[in-house]
Amino acid sequence: MQLQSFGAALTVTGSMHLLTVGERRVLIDCGLFQGNDDLEARNREPLPFDVAALDAVILTHAHLDHVGRLPLLVKLGYRGPVHCTEPTAALAETVLLDSARLQVDGYRHDLRRARRQGIPDEQVPPPLYEEEDVHRALALLRPALRFGETTRVAGLRVTPHRAGHILGSAYLLIEGGGTRLIMSGDLGNRESGLQLDFTPPPPADAVVLESTYANRTHRPWAATLAEFRDALRGAVRQGGKILIPSFAIERTQTILHTIKNLMDAGEVPRIPVFLDSPMAARATHEYFEFGDELIPEVRSALQAGEDPFRPGTLHVVPTSAESQRINRYDGPAIILAGNGMMTGGRIQHHLKHHLWKPSTSLISVSYQSPSSLGGRIVTGADHVRVMGEEIAVRAHVYTIGGFSAHADQDDLLAFLATAGTPHVWLVHGEPDVMESFLPVLAARGLKGDLVPDRQPVDLTGPGYPDGRPPGFTPPPSRSGSHGGE
Ligand SMILES: [Zn+2]
Repeated sequence: MQLQSFGAALTVTGSMHLLTVGERRVLIDCGLFQGNDDLEARNREPLPFDVAALDAVILTHAHLDHVGRLPLLVKLGYRGPVHCTEPTAALAETVLLDSARLQVDGYRHDLRRARRQGIPDEQVPPPLYEEEDVHRALALLRPALRFGETTRVAGLRVTPHRAGHILGSAYLLIEGGGTRLIMSGDLGNRESGLQLDFTPPPPADAVVLESTYANRTHRPWAATLAEFRDALRGAVRQGGKILIPSFAIERTQTILHTIKNLMDAGEVPRIPVFLDSPMAARATHEYFEFGDELIPEVRSALQAGEDPFRPGTLHVVPTSAESQRINRYDGPAIILAGNGMMTGGRIQHHLKHHLWKPSTSLISVSYQSPSSLGGRIVTGADHVRVMGEEIAVRAHVYTIGGFSAHADQDDLLAFLATAGTPHVWLVHGEPDVMESFLPVLAARGLKGDLVPDRQPVDLTGPGYPDGRPPGFTPPPSRSGSHGGE
């Protein structure tokens, strides 16, 4: 069994792993690089394999850094099946259409700027893909994967299991060529407040393991809840707007559910809550469809016909015009808007209107890449540039780190605990984080290796003497990239 990674190797985003077993070639995930210009430039690199010769694609979950290059693959000639779970197919539609819209909007913006500078149109890179490319990709989805059920994919036995990361997320047991391989996809935080835990995996010969937070222990859920409640109470006392930048899938639903619980229990005053993200509102519908993946409290609320994601004071904001109107609303109110790192989306005009007021509170519940607007705000910048304008940061800024949807080190070790003594191949992490995890694995008698970028590796081979691919030099500092939360 051979693995060749064209993304999420020695970096976090862009998950794309080509698995070769004999004559069979299956691509696991087809994600977009995200985080900074250098990484995003990699989305335009040609794929160094014959796209049309692939037998199948399997998606582990619908985050953009796992599905975002699928329309590109189809543009390049792929016409085969794309296997996934049903919720992944539903969420992938929302995620990919949004991605195409952002690509096209970005292109138009670049084009206007280029024309003002006298640069010919041909020199502006076209969008990676557009809406019709997304529809062509969606037509290839085969959403028949079910947790615990084995399916034949290109002659391999593939069994997806619940990964507990976001709705529909799966890790895959792949059997073929005499090898049992686990592809972890992204694994969930076992204290996520919404998703059930991952299913303990069966024994395997090799595990390709995500390692986003392999060096970290998340704060316990109860402490995170208390921290969030205290931030909300403090923010209400400030009397101004309470901005919560949030990712549309999973984080928004977790936050809405948490706010509802706090308000219902009388722990936080019932102030208006504006959900100002059409993508998040659309994604929330899928949680009603596929509630059996959620924790019992949420599942039973759904079964009783209740809406666990709707605080009594919730207003869903459909249009941009109505989004603008929230700024004229007097008094304290919670505004949940995308995107989570504040690099685009409706959160930006709320920042422009409110960040400079001492009565405003900003509660960060998402990972903030250091180079993003959100990263600069949470690390104490006193001025930031928002929508072309210099804005003073006078708002009270709260950072709540415990809402992560990713496994921490304890979760990863718990995952490996039932997998026997597999060879562990690390992907989807910053190199320094993965390196620091190698001795932790060794202490448990597990051989660990960092998966090299683009170089093929034999998953059942010996790996590298020190776990690092030839020519690997650790970067001097963190690149700040991150995927999917
Ligand atoms: Zn993910």
